[in-house]
Amino acid sequence: MILRHFIVAAILVGFVEMAYFKKQTVHYWIFAVVISLFMGLVWQATRLTHELALESLITTGGERLTLYAGTLRGALSRYAYLPYVLAQNEAVRELLDRGVSAERVNRYLEELNREAGSDALYVMAASGTTLASSNWRESFSFVGNNYGFRPYFFDAQQNRQGRFFAIGVTTGLPGLFMSHPVYRQERFVGAAVVKVDLDPLQDDWSRGGETVLVSDNNGVLFLASRDEWKYRTLAPLSEVQRASIHAGRQYVNQPLQLSPLQTIKILGEGRRIVRAEGISYLMLSRPLAGMDWELHHLTPMTLVEERTQAVAIIGIASVLLALVLVMYVRERRQKQLSRRKARDAEAMRELNLRLQEEIDERDRAEKALLDAQTELVQSSKLAALGQMATGIVHELNQPISAMRTYAASGRLLLEREEPDKVRESFASVERLTDHMASITAQLKTFAYKAPKLRKPVVVQECLDGALAMTDPLLSEAEVSLRKQIPEEPVVISGDRGRIEQVLVNLIRNAVDAMRGASKRILRIQVLVQEQEAEIVFEDSGSGIEEKNLAELFNPFFTTKEVGKGLGLGLSISYRIVTDLGGTIHAANNHDRGASFVVRLPLLNQTKKTDKVKE
Ligand code: ADP
Repeated sequence: MILRHFIVAAILVGFVEMAYFKKQTVHYWIFAVVISLFMGLVWQATRLTHELALESLITTGGERLTLYAGTLRGALSRYAYLPYVLAQNEAVRELLDRGVSAERVNRYLEELNREAGSDALYVMAASGTTLASSNWRESFSFVGNNYGFRPYFFDAQQNRQGRFFAIGVTTGLPGLFMSHPVYRQERFVGAAVVKVDLDPLQDDWSRGGETVLVSDNNGVLFLASRDEWKYRTLAPLSEVQRASIHAGRQYVNQPLQLSPLQTIKILGEGRRIVRAEGISYLMLSRPLAGMDWELHHLTPMTLVEERTQAVAIIGIASVLLALVLVMYVRERRQKQLSRRKARDAEAMRELNLRLQEEIDERDRAEKALLDAQTELVQSSKLAALGQMATGIVHELNQPISAMRTYAASGRLLLEREEPDKVRESFASVERLTDHMASITAQLKTFAYKAPKLRKPVVVQECLDGALAMTDPLLSEAEVSLRKQIPEEPVVISGDRGRIEQVLVNLIRNAVDAMRGASKRILRIQVLVQEQEAEIVFEDSGSGIEEKNLAELFNPFFTTKEVGKGLGLGLSISYRIVTDLGGTIHAANNHDRGASFVVRLPLLNQTKKTDKVKE
């Protein structure tokens, strides 16, 4: 029964798992194995509980059986001596032997029966006819009746004590008949019999509320605490059995139907599980010593079943609960996981969005910068153009207006016929055109393209040339020169003229910057670094304003008054130096003035591609 429920529960659990997992993944199998193990454990616990409960039921049932056997034996032994006492009585013997003094014996039996509390006492002759009985006065008196067919009489005939439960043929009332043979001068003369009513005992059992049964040698239940099972059989009766019962007229007209007790399981040693009217019982049976009867005690299995069921239900419920719990935890974890994934995805999306915004922002900034730069280039170009135009106009305007004056005065002088003065005017015009030519020459230099051919040039020689050119300027401005030049010729590659132009320009600027300064010192250094020749001009002039440092090398940048400078010198120098693969830098000195450093690659360091052509 429990096994069936258990299997149903196991299948249910299996279905729940299958439905939950859908796919037979590794988790599914792990889960299935764990659940099977748990179900196995529950099954073992259920079985153990069943066995223990049954064991305790057997113990208490056995104790009850012993008790009932005792009460039955006690009831029998109370009367068992009576037939023996009668068999010893001389009057009884004489009556059975010779058929005299029946009345005396009747009275004696009547008296004894009352005293002993038995149902009836009577004596039978060797023929089986009752000669005297305790109920001789009653209508249902046994006297004169022949009970020779009763097995207890046969037993007496065989010189045995007889014990026989039967329904009385005269009274119709059931009772236990106990007989004893009566002998006179060693001759069987009859039997003495006591009939005991066992109904009070049976009533006691019924009142106890327990199921106690006694079956005879044919398996007929003749004593039963449950009335409806009385005179029913434990097993179907054979024909022989029926015939013998009939011959002894034991149960008179009782149909002797099969009892509803069905054996479910035989446990051995007189124990078995039976079922009747939908209830299972533990049935314990024990033969009664000295008799061919069997005493049975039935205990309902409800307690065992309830306990077992409780354990099974708790076990299965626990497994189901664990199953649900695991599913819940798993579900929750998966939900959390997907929530986290969603959160991560959202964060990633936001990050991407922000990144994209940043990219867009940068693009916009870049574009704005580019626009600003273009604008700046455009405006600086225009500014430079304007500055240049102003410079050129100013530079050229002066000589032009002077030339016009000279031309006008020349015409006047010609009319006045003063040829000497006319000559002077012409000479002035000539000077002015020279000046104009020098301006345009400078502009031409700016547009000058670097010649491809280069020659080895000694730095010292270039410097000497530049100094020779600027000597009048240096002396006029009273600049003292400090030179630090190595004796070894420092050879670079380039063309001397252009390098001299750079150096002259730097010397000029230095002199200009030192005009008005109290100390006018120009230091010129030539150094040989690893791969370069380094020419340094360090003056003690005004220095360069910080904001102008970045612009010095731009064309037309000048801080000099209009007419004093075009702002082309440094930009031309820059172009020449970079053409030769060198660099030019400007910086302010720590104390006073500015420094310009020109670096040019040494001849042997010139790149192969720039190979010098002799
Ligand atoms: P210009 O001499 O016609 O102004 P440059 O290109 O030679 O043109 O010089 C540009 C500007 O650099 C000068 O106007 C001046 O302000 C600055 N400068 C050049 N050399 C020096 C120097 N040694 N000390 C201070 N300022 C200098």
